[in-house]
This record gives sequence, C-alpha cells and structure tokens, in this order.
Amino acid sequence: MSLSQRVKKIEPSPTLGLVAVAKNLKAQGHDVIEFGAGEPDFNTPDNIKAAGIKAIEDNFTRYTPNLGIKELRDAICEKLEKENNLKYTPDQVIVSSGAKHSLFNAIMALCDVGDEVIIPAPYWVTYPELVKMADGIPVTITTTGETGYKMTARQLQAAVTPKSKIVIINSPSNPTGAVYTEAELREIAQVCVENNIYVISDEIYEKLIYDDEKHVSIASFGEDIKKLTVTINGVSKAYAMTGWRIGYAAGGNEIIEAMDAFQSHATSAPASMTQKASYEAIAGNQDAVEEMRKEFDKRRKFIVDELNKIPGITCQIPKGAFYAFPDISGLYGKTIGGVTIEDDNVFAKLLLEKVYVAVVPGSPFGSPGNIRLSYANSIEYMKKGLDRINDLVAGNI
Ligand code: PMP
Ligand code: GLU
Repeated sequence: MSLSQRVKKIEPSPTLGLVAVAKNLKAQGHDVIEFGAGEPDFNTPDNIKAAGIKAIEDNFTRYTPNLGIKELRDAICEKLEKENNLKYTPDQVIVSSGAKHSLFNAIMALCDVGDEVIIPAPYWVTYPELVKMADGIPVTITTTGETGYKMTARQLQAAVTPKSKIVIINSPSNPTGAVYTEAELREIAQVCVENNIYVISDEIYEKLIYDDEKHVSIASFGEDIKKLTVTINGVSKAYAMTGWRIGYAAGGNEIIEAMDAFQSHATSAPASMTQKASYEAIAGNQDAVEEMRKEFDKRRKFIVDELNKIPGITCQIPKGAFYAFPDISGLYGKTIGGVTIEDDNVFAKLLLEKVYVAVVPGSPFGSPGNIRLSYANSIEYMKKGLDRINDLVAGNI
C-alpha cells in the first residue's frame, strides 16, 4: 500500500499503545499494575454525569454549532476571566473533541511546511507528532532535572531561527510535573513578543498543582503576548472526564476562525451531550476537583518516597499534574532478572514482562534515562506495583 509520507513520519502514541498492551495482558489473565495511562482513576462527578444523562433524555442529540454550544463557550469565557485573568468573547473560543484535538487544530492552523516549532523536552509524546502531521519541524530544547525540567528564556532565545513559528508551553507539565513561575513565563513571553513567535499554551493540568505553586496563563501578561497565544484546556484531567472528549482553545479572532474552518471539515463540533456535561463541569460545583487534587497530592508524596527507596532510582517531587518521572540511569549496566539494563526502553519492557508493571519509557518524551509513572491510582494499588519493582531491582525475583 502506498501510504502518505505524512503518516509514514508519525509514530503511534506510546502512551495509548501501552494502555492497549496492558489491557491485552489483563485479558489473558495477568495481574497487571498500570502506571501507564495518564487518566484519573476517579469516576466523573455525579452532577456532571447527570447533566450528560439529562441532555440525552432531553433529546439534545443533534449537531451543535461548530464552535460548540454558546452556553459552554460563555462558561469558558467566564472561567478564563475569573481564574486566568484572560478576557475572551465566545467567538474567540472553540470547543473540540479533547484538548488533543484542540492542539491539532491550532497547529494545523498555524504551522506551514518547514516551519519550526520549539518544544521543551521532556515533552508530552504527542507534540512532535502533531507538528510532523502539519509538515512542520519539531525543534526540541533539552532541559534537565537541575533546572526543574524548565526551559529558560535564554534557551528559547538561543533556539530561535528565521523559521521559528511556534513554541509549545505545557505548565504544569506532562511528564515532569514542572510548573513555570510567573517570572519565568514573563521572560519567555518577552522573547516570543520580540521574535514574533506564537505560543501554544497547554494548560490542561492547571488545577492539579501542589505545594505553593500557582498556575499563571502566559496570555494574561498583556495584549502583545495575548495576540500571539492560543490557550488550550479541557475537562479530561481536572474533572475525571477523559472519555467524554471535550477540550477547548481560546485565542484571537483570526486563529479561532481558521480553527473553526478546519474543524468544520475535519470533525464538526464534538458530541452534543458531552458539551452539556462539560458545561456543568465548568460552571457547576467545583468541590470534586479539590477533593481529587488533595488525593493526588497524597499519592504524589507516596510514590516519590517509595521510588527514592529503590536503589538506582531517583525521583524529584513533581509540582503539578499526576506523573512521577524518575531517573533510572543509575540502573544502567546492571543485570536484573537476567537482562542487562541498557536504557529506559529495556527497563520498561522488563518491568512489564517480568513483573507485569506497566510504565512508559522516557525516550518518547524526549528524555531517555527516565520512566514515567502515573499516580492517578490508589495508594494500595500503587504499593503493589512499587513493591514488585523494588523486589525485581533488589534481585528477589
Ligand atoms: N495535553 C497534555 C499535556 C496531556 O497530557 C493530555 C492527555 N491526553 C492532553 C493534552 C489531551 O487531553 P484530552 O485530549 O483528553 O483533552
Ligand atoms: N495524556 C495522557 C498520557 O500522557 C493520555 C494518553 C494520551 O492521550 O497520550 O498518558
């Protein structure tokens, strides 16, 4: 078959791939502990589910406006103003089938063939692939644990070329949990304004933030940076709504109109009833978000403590999201369970095959030497998996 060059350049999502492998092993009767998928284990809060059920019962089951229903876009505007200090009108917001879809629309609307898109590494696996789908060139900026896995304005400035078009900022970050401070973001914004670089700001984990960290939206610093920024968010993570598939983008009229046109041919608006449920999520009672956040916080401390007890593994405390991203390079060269650990891929494969523990290797996040474990699981469940890793590394298995 003669597939397009475009799809030949793209790797399938390793995070979703791992979920499928783990589910297969489970179906074969293996007791798999899953640290792979980045999705809350909590159920969608009842008030949100009820809104979805009501929408179906009210026969709210037809196409909606391509931008999304007005009441949802109104609620998003109110939320952005109240929580993010961002003023947008409902025609400057487009609702899509998940934040992943919003990102895809934004990149397709902005990125031309050969444009460079700057992505700080470690990055979420999907960013470079989306850029490749738009025939752009992903340019990664390597960050390390020493700078808290954050790109500095100076690094960004050094990466700028005449072809630089977009920078993708993801704070709080998947996979590192890094949260940029206001001062750091202001410096980055200045570089973007000076060099006329667009910003795609993926803020999907904004509500899952710990300690004294504060989420700040880069577009809130003034008109100059706001004009260049598309802010992306969604309901999947904060409201335990990964399967409902609702995300959104806010930006200037020109970019939102372009995304509107693109979406109108690619997919149309997302599902009508899930838009109603998302309205309830965003405009309704927010107590469940804080309850889940507190629980994630306990799990975060637990998993980091346990990982740091395993010889050869070191883990920084993440400040946001729900991932631990330990450095496992201390295990390199060791033979564990009959296998010599050469890299993160070998270690992740060993964990799955020997002790049925699913983790994502760091390489597809642009960070060989790490593995990613989602802590969107109960402490009891995680303990079982961490004990298995410990026993394997200690040579007890
Ligand atoms: N951005 C980041 C950083 C993510 O981790 C995810 C998780 N899938 C998404 C966007 C997309 O989320 P969704 O499509 O479920 O809204
Ligand atoms: N974003 C989540 C993750 O990183 C969900 C899977 C995906 O869409 O990639 O695991």
